[in-house]
Amino acid sequence: MNFSTLHGLLTNHIPSQCAVCRRWPSAPVCQACMVRFGQPVRRCRTCALELPAEHPRTQCNRCAHEPFGLDACFAALPYAFPWSELVSRYKFDSQTGWATFMASTLVGQTAMRDFLGQLTPEDWLLPLPLSTERLAWRGFNQAWELTRALQRQSTCRATADASLLLRIRHTRPQSELKRSARLDNLKGAFAVEPLRAAEVKGRRVVLVDDVMTSGASLLTAASVLRQAGASQVSAVVLTRTAPT
Ligand SMILES: [Zn+2]
Ligand SMILES: [Zn+2]
Repeated sequence: MNFSTLHGLLTNHIPSQCAVCRRWPSAPVCQACMVRFGQPVRRCRTCALELPAEHPRTQCNRCAHEPFGLDACFAALPYAFPWSELVSRYKFDSQTGWATFMASTLVGQTAMRDFLGQLTPEDWLLPLPLSTERLAWRGFNQAWELTRALQRQSTCRATADASLLLRIRHTRPQSELKRSARLDNLKGAFAVEPLRAAEVKGRRVVLVDDVMTSGASLLTAASVLRQAGASQVSAVVLTRTAPT
């Protein structure tokens, strides 16, 4: 066990006090905070941006005019207070125990549960991979922890795998870059494991990640999977930034 895993085990949240309002006894986030901050909203079915209540279609205007690159995309929560802080704790303080709470929040939403429930063992559930450098530094891939927690909690029968899609190039953190530079930064960053490329052909793939901002990482990974012959590529993310 490496240091960050040990650190994560020691500092995992003890589910007795709400991590947002500090009320206790509580689930990791209490019911009142879930109602206040975690209400499901209508989202675009291909990019998961929040839609205005009166929006007449299931896609946002942008996706309706040009295909987004994902067949479907689901997000459970806004990337805003308090979820952005909790995701940071999960990721940067190695509090991997949060994956269980995050997965239960995802499958608690009907659309997500229905989508995951119709997958078969032929379909892939793939975490967005980290580069070897970042994985070594962080000690775990937060998207893989989330993927495994999703499988534990849902009736999702898709096959989870953390080594089929690879991140072969270390890139600057996307958060440091302007939107226009994000796709360039990711050129050549992902690849399907060369010896296993045939396993993607004709199959449906669902990518899993914790945060979706511009979507550049998911879209770049999706195009690599389509080039390898995937029949559909969708994504399930915990949090999504607001429309800009
Ligand atoms: Zn609370
Ligand atoms: Zn959209």
